[in-house]
Amino acid sequence: MSGKIGGACLCGKIRYEIKNNFERLFFCHCEQCQKTSGSDYTSNLFGEAGRLTWLTGKDQITRFDYHGRGFTNAFCNLCGSGVPYLNQRGTAIIVRAGSLEGKPLFAYASKIFVGERAQWNEEYAVADSYEKFPI
Ligand SMILES: [Zn+2]
Ligand SMILES: [Zn+2]
Repeated sequence: MSGKIGGACLCGKIRYEIKNNFERLFFCHCEQCQKTSGSDYTSNLFGEAGRLTWLTGKDQITRFDYHGRGFTNAFCNLCGSGVPYLNQRGTAIIVRAGSLEGKPLFAYASKIFVGERAQWNEEYAVADSYEKFPI
């Protein structure tokens, strides 16, 4: 059984809901994801197109298509959070896993574009952990 799951950007202007039965979760290490996230990878859920409902703020979204690789970024105009978007072929909806308000359900997960992985992230697995900023 799968119900719906909600999602929102950080400022809360953009809200959506979507069927919570994704096909897959990709941890994407590509160079474009590093640029748009400002981090070492993104966590993107893939599902069939046409399963998402925008609740508020759809007109607050900026979409950027990087045509060299069929890469897209979509984000809130106010807070910059990544929000869902349709892939360039219109065949799949891609949801930033961190924008969800709950636990996504998916069939399998994999790391992709690992050959482009940021060299500085190789050692993160052994970094110290803290609940908050260390003082
Ligand atoms: Zn926002
Ligand atoms: Zn990527």
